[in-house]
Amino acid sequence: MSRPSFHSIYMRLAELMSERSTCVRTNSSGQLMQVGCAIVSADFRRVLSIGYNGNAAGLPNKCDSTEVGACGCIHAEENAVISCQAARSEDKIVFCTHLPCKACAKRIIQLGGVREVYYRKDYRLKDSLMLFTDPNVSITVGHLFDVDVEKDEAQQVAAEALTKWQLEKRG
Ligand SMILES: [Zn+2]
Ligand SMILES: [Zn+2]
Repeated sequence: MSRPSFHSIYMRLAELMSERSTCVRTNSSGQLMQVGCAIVSADFRRVLSIGYNGNAAGLPNKCDSTEVGACGCIHAEENAVISCQAARSEDKIVFCTHLPCKACAKRIIQLGGVREVYYRKDYRLKDSLMLFTDPNVSITVGHLFDVDVEKDEAQQVAAEALTKWQLEKRG
């Protein structure tokens, strides 16, 4: 009997959470940026926190502005970090529907105890990959491009993407 891996299950949880997003921001391809995030214990036994992008609780369930870069929504990863009550010392794994932005990468690092980060949708800029893999941070990252891909392959794909991006930046 084949059964889904925990990686697949928690990435799907992040994707389900993204469906609650009320943000109307779109990416360069015109797709809605509905983003979800799930933070789980490293033994996969507990969901520690979840988040999706949207306005602060109590404020209108919509973006502040339709102007690019000024929607004012709290990012999914930011919401998940704010809601995470687990101790800094607890080992955690983070699942994101999208490669986090640079600021959210720092929030995830600052949460403490994060050992691995997985993302599903890629982004042209890889600043967050660079931050996670900084030798003084050393968080393993994986591009779970398909929910059923093995984590080793996901990690290899992310590492290659980062190397390629760094070479292009230098070139
Ligand atoms: Zn928004
Ligand atoms: Zn962000």
